[in-house]
Amino acid sequence: MFDFKGIPVIDAHFHIMGGADRIELLKKQKERYGYDRVNVLSLEATDGLQNAKCITYKLMSPGDYAFAGLSYNSDEDFLSQAKALYNLGFDGFKMIEGKPGPRKKTGIPLNDSVYDPFYSFCEENGIPVLLHAADTAVFWDESKAPSFAKESGWLYTDGTFLSKEEITREVIEVLEKHRQLKLILAHFFFMSDDLKRAGEMFDRYPNLCFDITPGTEMYIDFARDTAAARAFFEKYQDRIIFGTDNYDVDPQEEKEIKDVINSLMYSFLFEDKPFRAWDLELHGIGLDREALDKILHRNFERLTPLQRVDKANVIDFIANELGRAHKTEEVKEIRDILALISDL
Ligand SMILES: [Zn+2]
Repeated sequence: MFDFKGIPVIDAHFHIMGGADRIELLKKQKERYGYDRVNVLSLEATDGLQNAKCITYKLMSPGDYAFAGLSYNSDEDFLSQAKALYNLGFDGFKMIEGKPGPRKKTGIPLNDSVYDPFYSFCEENGIPVLLHAADTAVFWDESKAPSFAKESGWLYTDGTFLSKEEITREVIEVLEKHRQLKLILAHFFFMSDDLKRAGEMFDRYPNLCFDITPGTEMYIDFARDTAAARAFFEKYQDRIIFGTDNYDVDPQEEKEIKDVINSLMYSFLFEDKPFRAWDLELHGIGLDREALDKILHRNFERLTPLQRVDKANVIDFIANELGRAHKTEEVKEIRDILALISDL
């Protein structure tokens, strides 16, 4: 579909949204867009079978990466969980806990000391953490929030959610305390409207990276001043990571939305000219080969040594989940995952 000019592409921001029967669809998504490798991110904090599914995908698709999530229903503390998940073969950690909904649900500030042993473990072992923190500013504005956000429960105006700035401050506190942490902030940390502040963060925290997974608002912001966006991407080309939020889509309609998004990202990075996505008038920054190489794969490879994963250990891990499952659907789903693995 795209001409990457021979540059291998890692999609560092990939999800499994469906059940075990849909894990195969991830490989199809990867192939559809010609990505060489993907990193599947667990949303364990919001769905207790995400780690099981993500590690199963990694087992099924050697060479691909998986980041684990922390569980909030476990008897184990975060450090013990992290050690076990890393030993199992996860390549890093994903935290959805900084998105306003999950952040409200956990009730734990991202800079709370309860996370410190976990962050320190990642810091000491050079393990990357990909954190979704805050959201795009319009989700705090009833009159400007898009309808999909309202339908998904992403309107944060009822006074029960933290503000965007409060969540941003929590992340900055984490960075201040854990200077060596390899932190990747998802979705450009929702800072595409303030490249000055983004640049100041990169200057202050040398291990910090942003991924450029849409929110399309990011690309609208970049199109407002293409020269400034290009200069930023050139200056910070070691700190920017490609990701799409692709997932196991099947229905034709969803596939079309994903086609537009993936194509938008390609045009933005590779082409120095105006382009359209839906009714949006955007503009590419046409990066040179070296910058593309870094953003599309080298930066992520530098942060993330690929770990081995062992089938017998994964079976043990998932069998253990089976022992803890109570709900009938959960038990069924775990059995489906186990069946999938035994066929490998
Ligand atoms: Zn995501």
